[in-house]
Amino acid sequence: MIEELSLLEKNKKYVWQPFTQMKEWVENEQLIIERGEGVKLYDTEGNSYYDGVSSIWLNVHGHQKKELNDAIKEQLEKISHTTMLGLANVPATELAEKLVQITPEGLNKVFYSDSGSTAVEIGLKMAFQYWQQIDEDCGSKDKFITLKNAYHGDTVGSVSVGGVDLFHKIYRPLLFDSLKAPSPYCYRCSFGEEEGKCNFSCIKELERMMKDHHREIAALVIEPLVQGAGGMITAPKGYLSKARELCDKYNILMLTDEVAVGFGRTGKMFACEHEGVSPDIMTVAKGISGGYLPISATLTTDEIYNAFYDDYASQKTFFHGHSFTGNPLAAAVSLANIDLFEKEEIIKKLQDKIKLAQNKLESFKELKHVGDIRQQGLMVGIELVKDKKSKEEYPWEQRKGVKVCMVAREKGMIIRPLGNVVVFMPPLCSTKEELTEMLEIIYESIVEVTE
Ligand SMILES: *Cc1c(COP(=O)(O)O)cnc(C)c1O
Repeated sequence: MIEELSLLEKNKKYVWQPFTQMKEWVENEQLIIERGEGVKLYDTEGNSYYDGVSSIWLNVHGHQKKELNDAIKEQLEKISHTTMLGLANVPATELAEKLVQITPEGLNKVFYSDSGSTAVEIGLKMAFQYWQQIDEDCGSKDKFITLKNAYHGDTVGSVSVGGVDLFHKIYRPLLFDSLKAPSPYCYRCSFGEEEGKCNFSCIKELERMMKDHHREIAALVIEPLVQGAGGMITAPKGYLSKARELCDKYNILMLTDEVAVGFGRTGKMFACEHEGVSPDIMTVAKGISGGYLPISATLTTDEIYNAFYDDYASQKTFFHGHSFTGNPLAAAVSLANIDLFEKEEIIKKLQDKIKLAQNKLESFKELKHVGDIRQQGLMVGIELVKDKKSKEEYPWEQRKGVKVCMVAREKGMIIRPLGNVVVFMPPLCSTKEELTEMLEIIYESIVEVTE
């Protein structure tokens, strides 16, 4: 007899969910999302929820956005996929030009892949190989400086430059070494300095590391402005441009990972723009396709590109490429996404929404267990603490962040925490009314769980 399983039973029987303890998943009620519209998700039972973290930091214009749907349909009628190994395709070519136009000065070459992690892997390999192929006595240049609390993806190379112990510790024997600079985590400053009145000791330590090790260092790998998965840790003003200066001073490449912060999330198209920084290598993913399809890009300068550009026999080829590199459907929807940024003046309209969120978040400061509120554009982290005065953390076993998110779900919003940090990262298209309602749900959920 054939067993008739419900959809949820099938899921629990066959699927291994990402970043999930499956015992907990299997033993509890779960939602299956069937469709979306605007900033709302609908489950198979017909319930609706705000998409309060943009389906993990991806969605930009909402779900079922007509222009994006149309771009995919139009491309679908032509071809879904063709390889970029030995061939080019139309949308990926057009998109490369567009990306070069909208990204910081000097990034003139686009290398595609299909996720943030692979974009970072590519950046690491490019930086490493670049130094091997230039005729300068600059040292071994085979290591990276990264930051504590950094997150650059889940593949082994990107984990090697990560700094979130909870995710990364167990894999340590598999990883290559990197030098870890302090995280600019002002609320919990590792130098005990006071926020806003500090001596930038984190930057001084970064400089000391560069000074001592620059001959070994290929690149500084950094999430500009916000360390996302590390807990929405916002760097103080000036940190990024100072890091850029240091990279120049010590002959180190700067690889900025804009996978989370890119495409408007911080209030500008790219986070680097806030401090007029042009990196040597930049990765973009997540928002690039409006959060519709998997595609990413690693952009770089002529200087780096030219270190690979030679006769085949020189053996300077960049041997890297994935099956789905430069997928035409994903490239087509990415072009439509960038068009929408321009046509709908997304960045301009964002400024009032950012202010509204800022004003609303003021009231959260009075809550007994809200220790810190970090906001950069529409990226928000609310750090819950057991004791506000001493900043004592809630023990991780209490899973306060998860509890707040589960209560929010009952109130009609999907959000996902990072430990004790409640994350709010709504689609950029959210209206002021929607933002207000979402923030009210978070406020009430925090009160319910912590008071
Ligand atoms: C999400 C993220 C990645 C990884 O991207 P995937 O598409 O999940 O592989 C890399 N870097 C940063 C900063 C991210 O936030």
